[in-house]
Amino acid sequence: MTRPPRSAWPNRRQFLLQALAAAAAAKSVACGGSETSDTGDTGDTGDTSDTSDTGGSTTDTPTTGEQPVLPSDPFTLGIASGDPLPDSVILWTRLAPTPLELGGGMPPEPFTVTWEVATDEAFGDIVTSGTADADPTFAHSVHVDVTSLSPDSWYWYRFKVGSYTSAAGRTRTTPARDAKPETLRFASACCQAYTDGYPAAYVHMQKEELDFVVFLGDYMYEGAATGPVRSHGTPEPMDIDGYRARYGLYKGQPELQAMHQRCPWVFLWDDHEVENNYAGELPQAADPNFLVRRAAAYQAFYEHMPLRLAPPTGADYKIYGTLDWGDLATFWLLDTRQYRDDQNCDDMPGPGCADWQKYDGTLLGDEQEAWLEDGLQSSAALWKVLTNQVVFSSVNFGGAFVNFDQWDGYPVARQRLLDFITAEALENVIIISGDLHVGGVGDIGAIADDEDSPVVAAEIVTTSISSASIDDAEAVGGLVAGLKRIRHFNAISRGYVSHEVTRAQWKISCFVIDTADTPTSPGSVEATLYVDVGVPGLRPA
Ligand code: FE
Ligand code: CA
Repeated sequence: MTRPPRSAWPNRRQFLLQALAAAAAAKSVACGGSETSDTGDTGDTGDTSDTSDTGGSTTDTPTTGEQPVLPSDPFTLGIASGDPLPDSVILWTRLAPTPLELGGGMPPEPFTVTWEVATDEAFGDIVTSGTADADPTFAHSVHVDVTSLSPDSWYWYRFKVGSYTSAAGRTRTTPARDAKPETLRFASACCQAYTDGYPAAYVHMQKEELDFVVFLGDYMYEGAATGPVRSHGTPEPMDIDGYRARYGLYKGQPELQAMHQRCPWVFLWDDHEVENNYAGELPQAADPNFLVRRAAAYQAFYEHMPLRLAPPTGADYKIYGTLDWGDLATFWLLDTRQYRDDQNCDDMPGPGCADWQKYDGTLLGDEQEAWLEDGLQSSAALWKVLTNQVVFSSVNFGGAFVNFDQWDGYPVARQRLLDFITAEALENVIIISGDLHVGGVGDIGAIADDEDSPVVAAEIVTTSISSASIDDAEAVGGLVAGLKRIRHFNAISRGYVSHEVTRAQWKISCFVIDTADTPTSPGSVEATLYVDVGVPGLRPA
C-alpha cells in the first residue's frame, strides 16, 4: 500500500492525534479519516443494517483546538453523499484548497471538520451534527456515517472548517426494509472522460427529481495528458499522488459537483479508475508493480467517493454490495473488474481466436458469483436489478466481431448466470450496464447466442457522460440494426438514462445531449421504453 511520506511531521501529528482523541472521545472520527478509527470491513454497500462502526455520528461539541489557518477555501472539490440505508447515509468531502498540487494545498496535519444535517435548506432545523477527522493519510478526505435518520426522508447537509462553510447538499435515506414503496426514480451514468468533453449531461440530470444516481464506472480516466476537447495536463498517474491529482481535476468540475449536491450516489468502478482494460491482478501494459499501482488507485477511489467502506488495507478492495428500495427493487452493484480472469484472445477485438466460445474464464470471481446467486435466490424484491460495468448482451454479430472485455468474451460465465435465472424462474430481472459509450436497450434471451430463445430479462446500456464514441460508430450502428434483440441503439450521443420504477412497470428514458464539447448543451429524451411486471423483457413496440 502506497502511503504519503510522513517522516517530516511525526511529532506534531502525534500530538494533534492525541489532542483530538482526548477531545473527541474515541468514536467521533469519520470512517477512514484517522488511523485510530476502526471502521471494520463492511464490504457490502448497504444490504445489512448491522454495519460496523464507521463513526462520525457524534453530536459532541467540536473541540478543534489550534488548527492552522487554511490559505483559501478548502471545499474546491465539492461535497457528496452516497450508499444510503433506511437510517443512514454517508457524507463526503475532501479538504483541498489547491487540488492539483501535491497534498492538495493542505498542511500535512489532521484537521477537524464540523458537519451538520438538517431537514431544511436554511439549516433552521438541524437534526444531527458532529465532527470528523480529515487526515492527510487519506488526502484530508472526510467520510461521515450519519446514523439515526428517518427512513425514506430527504435531508440537507454541509461541512464547516475554520471560517469556511461548504455548499449545502441534498440527500436522502432509503425506504424501510419492510416498506412497500410505490415508486423509485434514479439515473444511471458512466464514462466521463475529461479530455473528450464536458459533463454537460448533468446540467439536465439536475432538473430531474431523482432518488439517487448509480454510477457504472470510468468516473475518471487514467489516460495521458491531452485529448480532443480538454487536456488532463498531467501524465498518466502511476502512484497515489498522480491519482489524487487526477481526481482533483475531475471533481473540480462544477457540473459534476452540482449533481452530487442533488441526491446520493452509489458506485461501481470499471477499468479506467486504474488502467484501461486491466483484468483482476493483470495490467494491460506489462508492469511488475501493477498491484502496488492498483492499490494506490483503489485508495484514491476511496478518498474521493462517499463510500460506506473502510479504506482499503491491502491490494484487494471489496466494493460490491446491494442497495434495497423497500420491497420494490434490489440492486446488485457488481464488480466485474477486480476478480476477472484475463481477457481471452489477447483482448483483440475482432473475430477472435480458436474456440473462444468455450472460454470459461470468470468475470465476477467465484465468491461474488456465489454471493449474487444466493442473493437472487432468496430475494423478495419485485425488481431484481443487476448493475454492472460491461455489456451483457450478445453483440458479437455471429462471432464476426467480439469485444473480449465484455460478457461476450466470457461466454461460459454468462451462460451460467442465464441458466441460473432460467432454473430459478427469476422474474422482473433488469440488467444495467455501460462501458461502450453507446446507448442501447434490448432483450436478453435464455441462451445468449440464440436470438429465438425465450426472453428472460432486459438490458439497458447507458451511454457515456462525455467519453468519445467508439470508432466507426456509424458502421457499428448499421450492424446493430440487424440484431433482433436490440430495440434501441445510438452509437454517437452522450447522455444518461433515467429510470422510473413502479409496481406495474419500469420506464426507461434515454436522455441525450447535442454535444459534450461545451459545458452546456441542448438535450432531450430520444427514446422511451417499458418493461411490464411479470412479463420478461421489453414491452412489444
Ligand atoms: Fe469508458
Ligand atoms: Ca470501461
